[in-house]
Amino acid sequence: MIACVDCKIPYPPDSIPYICPHCGGIYDFTAPPPFDPERIEPDLPGYWRYRLSPSSPVRG
Ligand SMILES: [Zn+2]
Repeated sequence: MIACVDCKIPYPPDSIPYICPHCGGIYDFTAPPPFDPERIEPDLPGYWRYRLSPSSPVRG
């Protein structure tokens, strides 16, 4: 889940504040999202997995 790093207030589900309205802190994950091997898409060609990487030679 996501919560304020300073006051630990959870990210509000009914709005999308850029910073915490309570203390002005930033939001971050309270714990890394669990890795789920079932959600990998093995059918995609390998380079598509990296198309959003800034260092990728693949553009478009
Ligand atoms: Zn806060």
